[in-house]
Amino acid sequence: MTDRSTFLDHLRETLSGIEAEGLMKRERLITSAQGAHVTVAGRPMLNLCANNYLGLADDPRLIAAAKAAMDGRGYGMASVRFICGTQDLHRQLEERIADYLGMDDAILFAACFDANGGLFEPLLTEQDAIISDSLNHASIIDGVRLCKAKRYRYANNDMSDLEVQLLTAVGDGARFIMIATDGVFSMDGYLANLPAITALAEKYGAITMVDDCHATGFMGPEGRGTPALSGVKVDILTGTLGKALGGALGGYIAGPRPVIDLLRQRARPYLFSNALPPAVVAAALAAFDIVEAADDLRAQLFHNAEYWRSGLESIGFRLLPGMHPIIPVMLGEAPMAQAFARALDARGVMVSAFFYPVVPRGAARIRTQMNAKLTMDDLDMALEAFEAAAKEVRAIR
Ligand SMILES: *Cc1c(COP(=O)(O)O)cnc(C)c1O
Repeated sequence: MTDRSTFLDHLRETLSGIEAEGLMKRERLITSAQGAHVTVAGRPMLNLCANNYLGLADDPRLIAAAKAAMDGRGYGMASVRFICGTQDLHRQLEERIADYLGMDDAILFAACFDANGGLFEPLLTEQDAIISDSLNHASIIDGVRLCKAKRYRYANNDMSDLEVQLLTAVGDGARFIMIATDGVFSMDGYLANLPAITALAEKYGAITMVDDCHATGFMGPEGRGTPALSGVKVDILTGTLGKALGGALGGYIAGPRPVIDLLRQRARPYLFSNALPPAVVAAALAAFDIVEAADDLRAQLFHNAEYWRSGLESIGFRLLPGMHPIIPVMLGEAPMAQAFARALDARGVMVSAFFYPVVPRGAARIRTQMNAKLTMDDLDMALEAFEAAAKEVRAIR
C-alpha cells in the first residue's frame, strides 16, 4: 500500500542523502546586474563563474536595443512561431546567425537545451545511427534519447574509439550516421578534436553536429567558433544566446537549408513552445554586431585567461591544461571543493564547486571562468584570495 505522504517522505530521504554526501547545491541571490562585479546579500563580490565571456551581460548597447524593441514591439509574443509568433526580427536574427556561422539558414529555440532536444528526432529514424561523445552536454544526451536512431558512444575525444563506433554502425547497416559532439567540453575546457572528427566523418560518409555553446562569439576568427578555429566545416552547429552573446536566453540550430526547413516543420520544442520575446531577439541582433567586431574583447579575454592560469599554477594549484577561458582548479573530493568555495566566498570571490554527478567522483573542482571585463587588479585580488583560502582549508601543500 503506497500513499502520497510515503512519496513525499521518500523524496525527503533522497534529499537527506544528497545533503549527507555533501552534494547539495545552493543558490546565491544576486541583487545587481550580472558582471565581473556583483552584489550578493549586500556584499560586493568578484564573479569568476559566469559564462559571460565577453562581459556583454550588462552591456548598455544590448540594454538599449532591448528597451527599444520592447517599446516598439511589446513585451511578449503570446504564441509559438508558426501560429502568430514570428516577427521580422526573428527572421533577421536567424539570417544573421546563419550568415555569421557560414550556414544556409538557422532556426531559433527558447534555449540551446531545446535546440539539442529537438534536433535529432525529426532528422533520423531507427534505420540511422547517432555516435555521441561520452562527455556531451545533458541536452544532447536527452535529444539523442528522444530519437529512434541507434545509439553509439565513444570515450571522450577518443578518435580511435570513434572510428570503432563508426565501423560498428556501418556494420549494423546504418542508413545515415550522425556524429554529435560538444565543441568545448564545459567541465574541463577541452576542445573537441574537430580536424580528426571531420576527417573520420568524411571517410565514413557521416554527418557532423557540433554544439558550440562554450565557443561561439569568442573562439576562432571573429569568434565564429571551434570549426573556424580549427579551419574545418561541420554540417550542423547548435549554440546559445545565453553565454557569450549577451547571456539572456535563446538557442539555435544552423545548418543546410533542408535540415532547417524540416526542423521548422517537425522539431517539437519549436512547434510547442513560445517564441522568443522581441527584446531578447533585438538585443541578440545587436550582440552579433558587437561580437563580430570584438577582436579587442577577445584579446583581453585570452590575455586574462593566460594571466589567471599562470598565476594559479605558480601558487601550486593543479589545473587541467588548455587555452580555453574555462580554467578548472582540481580539488579531489566534493567536500574539499565546497569548503574551498566557501573560503573564497568569505573573501569576496564567487566561484562554483562542481562535483559528482556533474563530474566523476574524486574529480571535484572549482571551475573558474575568465571574462573580458576582469581587470588585472581584479585577478591579482582573486589570486591572493585563492592562495589564502587554499591555506585555510589545506587545499594545497
Ligand atoms: C549551456 C549549454 C547548453 C544549454 O544552453 P541554454 O541555451 O542555456 O539552454 C547546451 N549545450 C552546451 C554544451 C552548453 O554548454
